[in-house]
Amino acid sequence: MDVDTVEDHSGPTTTLEKQMLVQWCMSAQFFSETELQNNIKRILGDGHQGTAMEVIDQLNPTLEKFSLALRSSMSQTSGEQWWALISTNADGISMTASAYTAMELGILRQLIESVFTEPLGNYVIGLHQAVREATEKGPSSFSRREAQDLVMLFCRDGWLAIDDGRWVTIGQRACIELQQYLEDAYPEFVRTCGLCKQMATTGLMCGGCGAFAHPYCVDRLKFNATGAPSCPECRQQLNNSDAFGPGKSGIPHSAKLDSTQAQD
Ligand SMILES: [Zn+2]
Ligand SMILES: [Zn+2]
Repeated sequence: MDVDTVEDHSGPTTTLEKQMLVQWCMSAQFFSETELQNNIKRILGDGHQGTAMEVIDQLNPTLEKFSLALRSSMSQTSGEQWWALISTNADGISMTASAYTAMELGILRQLIESVFTEPLGNYVIGLHQAVREATEKGPSSFSRREAQDLVMLFCRDGWLAIDDGRWVTIGQRACIELQQYLEDAYPEFVRTCGLCKQMATTGLMCGGCGAFAHPYCVDRLKFNATGAPSCPECRQQLNNSDAFGPGKSGIPHSAKLDSTQAQD
């Protein structure tokens, strides 16, 4: 028996298993809870009993020594947890997305700003706009094709997301890693779900009190007699006409939602 074997079976039982899990997290960087669970099973074996959360609680103290931590946020539409290995001494985008060159980081910062401060409040811009901005922000030799490839790379890496091949919005990884950065840089554009208290870039806004709720959280609301969900704050009925963010196939909602409209 391995000298490192411990009695607690809720997490990795040997130093080697722990190392293997840490290494997998370091190479994967950003992954869904399903992928995490599959890898926990692969490394710890079928007999393993603990939850993903119990395993992560055991990995985080090790990661902390490298100024790293596993953090998660929920998909706003499906409710699935997504995890990212983040740098705990990161300040803003530069440290967090350190896999990119300075030029690429400048473009990522520009695109995140354009999406997050998009005037209709949907957190969506067209792919054409994203590519144009990336081309303009890049060096003079930067072609449109290279700009488009870079935008797609940001989407694949989870910083941005693309819907229906046409609409660019905030990615799940940005929701995990950049929440503090976005709150500091663009406080007036930050919306928080009244139910789960996480940042909301898609969902419904209550016409009565201006509270926000994620699509996933709305689905979990108690439905009132009319079959429509009611606001968690003021109980007024929530309407689909008060939706914001990317809608069906990513097409942004047309109405501008802000707190002034909520008082009409
Ligand atoms: Zn929520
Ligand atoms: Zn309300």
